[in-house]
Amino acid sequence: MTGATTPGLVCAHHHLYSALARGMPAPARTPRRFGEILELVWWRLDRALDAEIIEWSAKLGALEALASGTTAIIDHHESPAAVDGSLDVIAAACAEVGVRVDCAYGVTDRHGPEGAAAGLAENGRFIRAGGRGHVGVHAAFTCTDATLEAAAGLARDLGVGVHVHVAEGPDDADGPARLAALAGDDWLIVHAVHLDRDLPGTIVHNPRSNMNNGVGYARPAARPNPVALGTDGIGADMLDEFRLAYVRHREDDVTATPDDAWGWLTGGWDLFTEALDDRVTWDYPVAEPWHLAFTTGVRPVEVRVGDEVVWAGGAPTRVDAAEVRARAAEQAARLFARIEELG
Ligand SMILES: [Zn+2]
Repeated sequence: MTGATTPGLVCAHHHLYSALARGMPAPARTPRRFGEILELVWWRLDRALDAEIIEWSAKLGALEALASGTTAIIDHHESPAAVDGSLDVIAAACAEVGVRVDCAYGVTDRHGPEGAAAGLAENGRFIRAGGRGHVGVHAAFTCTDATLEAAAGLARDLGVGVHVHVAEGPDDADGPARLAALAGDDWLIVHAVHLDRDLPGTIVHNPRSNMNNGVGYARPAARPNPVALGTDGIGADMLDEFRLAYVRHREDDVTATPDDAWGWLTGGWDLFTEALDDRVTWDYPVAEPWHLAFTTGVRPVEVRVGDEVVWAGGAPTRVDAAEVRARAAEQAARLFARIEELG
């Protein structure tokens, strides 16, 4: 059987820092709404990150991306105790494994004006030094208007878009109104579940994450924007995310076909065109939506990034998978201890 080939797949919204989160210490109480999930889970995790944890988390995430035929990741990062240089750590970790990455630091006023300034500076420093990136913003509801304006202005000056969570939950209901005068076509509008108006930019749909957080269905098919798919940090298996995007769409509209979700998956190539130079050979002979929507467990046999084979025979060629997993497990143990320590 000859396997089908495709370009490398693109994860249009990831959080590589969350690759070590699985199995983390349970929150003090059960979160009952989206805002509490952020406060009790993710904002406990991000402040415990240091450079070494970020490095091995990114390597594990990059390894898992290749294992799923994903060669390009658009990442959104936050590590308030280790801001400076954090995007370099992620970029270097991905380069070592052989995965393309586009980095952003999620600017926020949650840690005061100094925290927001440090986040803006990290985006500016990384991109000015030649890094591939967007200017990251956590979300409008954790930023002042001045910070949103500064991020939009920095992005304009650098000639890149802004990568921002928008209207993911009810907490950010006024986000679209506050961003309306700032957003442009090169922005990544992540989630867009509770959008009360159209904004320019590409909507990045993350169906698994939205279901996991109980925030509702984004209905990307009803929007005029280009759409791409992301995982929001839950791995980088884009065929799996495509299948989920399809069934979630179908649950909402039984006349939906896999062609829409396939269009969202392939929309990633408009954001990360370099992935079109990559080649994935799959262990299944057909790579088209009506097959892949209903065929689970399709895996890459070989992955080429540019001219280099980076995955072959079930293993990465540039790094030792067992070592990456072992070192990542050590850093996960450190991360969990730091989370408990910080309370
Ligand atoms: Zn996210």
